[in-house]
Amino acid sequence: MRYVSTRGGMEPSSFLDILLGGLAPDGGLVMPESYPQADLAAWRGLSYPALAFEVLSRFATDIPADDLRALIDRTYRADVFGSAEITPLRTLEPGLHILALSNGPTLAFKDIAMQMLGHLFEYALAREERELNIVGATSGDTGSAAEYAMRGRRGIRVFMLSPAGRMSPFQQAQMFSLQDPNIFNLAIEGVFDDCQDMVKAISNDLAFKQRHAIGTVNSINWARVVAQVVYYFKGYFAATTSNDQTVSFAVPSGNFGNVLAGHIARQMGLPIRRLVVATNENDVLDEFFRTGRYRVRKASETYETSSPSMDISKASNFERFIFDLVGRDPAQVRELWRQVDQDGGFDLSAQPCWRDAGRYGFVSGRSTHADRIATIRAIWERYQVMVDTHTADGLHVARDLREPGVPMICLETALPIKFAESIREALGRDPDRPARFEGIEDLPKRVETMPIDVERLKRYIAEHCGAGRCGA
Ligand SMILES: *Cc1c(COP(=O)(O)O)cnc(C)c1O
Repeated sequence: MRYVSTRGGMEPSSFLDILLGGLAPDGGLVMPESYPQADLAAWRGLSYPALAFEVLSRFATDIPADDLRALIDRTYRADVFGSAEITPLRTLEPGLHILALSNGPTLAFKDIAMQMLGHLFEYALAREERELNIVGATSGDTGSAAEYAMRGRRGIRVFMLSPAGRMSPFQQAQMFSLQDPNIFNLAIEGVFDDCQDMVKAISNDLAFKQRHAIGTVNSINWARVVAQVVYYFKGYFAATTSNDQTVSFAVPSGNFGNVLAGHIARQMGLPIRRLVVATNENDVLDEFFRTGRYRVRKASETYETSSPSMDISKASNFERFIFDLVGRDPAQVRELWRQVDQDGGFDLSAQPCWRDAGRYGFVSGRSTHADRIATIRAIWERYQVMVDTHTADGLHVARDLREPGVPMICLETALPIKFAESIREALGRDPDRPARFEGIEDLPKRVETMPIDVERLKRYIAEHCGAGRCGA
């Protein structure tokens, strides 16, 4: 399998060539040249790791099969994800299911891809005798998923910036209690945007970046997307009894990584009827799928909501779907993103590609704070199941888009314990806490506080990135 850029300016490359990279050199996103086809008859009944091997081996064709199998077996273990099923399906009522994706180390679905990425990165770096210093900014879920995936991995260090005092006590405890010497928590005296600006400043200093082998683990990483394709197959097989049935998926969406994985599963031949894109008040994606207009929001128009992991103003993986929608024509993608840069968006509503966009199965809806609180309450009262705010957005939107005879599978993207305040508002009680997180707030914390000062950050990285062994 070879990979190309959505904007056409990259030599076709292999999986390992693109694994550690971010954007393609021309500013586009990498995509497989074609979609491999699934063998549903052979795949039904496979364990999660066996299914993961079938999917990943078709995309990572330059990793020897035995190596890939070993990496997958080390990743998808019952002791890491809470059960041998990895992503068990929970049935609320006939035809309505929750696919539990949040039983990994940090209790959000990002663990499923990030844990795999940790093993893949370690493997690829060891082969090339390279090291990598990951610098990132987080307001919660991504940073902790990255730290738990990379902790203790050879050749990798993580420098994670977060806004001092702004994450929930639980999230702070999750990250700051890690004592692994390759994890560096930096609490920045500012807000999330300040952290992100500091990371951008580092990324833009190419000399520094090269000297210190700086990398990232953001949501455009292709391997993360592919690892997420697996659970669409897993959910389909669990909700159906034969391969001529169809299902729909409801996906709480922000950067469009999760639901893009559903699109890829569908292109591989998984019988998905609808891909329901659920947004919160930040509804840039819902607007697109209803109208054909993509209108990026300004920072001032991006709301802080009670489903914070979906508070995005532009969806970083969206360009990958548009590439398919415009018939994989890089010239059109380039033109559309020129319009995004220049005019803040584009309008496909009068274009031929929009007229048959329906064949990709996407539908959408949005949810508000009141909707998600009411949904958390209704799901609890009706089924005695507690869901978090993001999953509630998915369930709320799915309710109106269910069809008779088509099972609806709602993806659970986090556990309620991560968003305790909203649970208390909805249910008047504290969320359940998995036993392994009892008392986590009382553990010793390993974190360094730092002002908004890029030079200081660079010095810190240089001093801690492995006694000059990192980079060239
Ligand atoms: C990241 C995240 C999302 C959004 O997923 P995307 O892949 O960015 O669309 C939704 N819910 C939770 C809890 C998340 O952490």
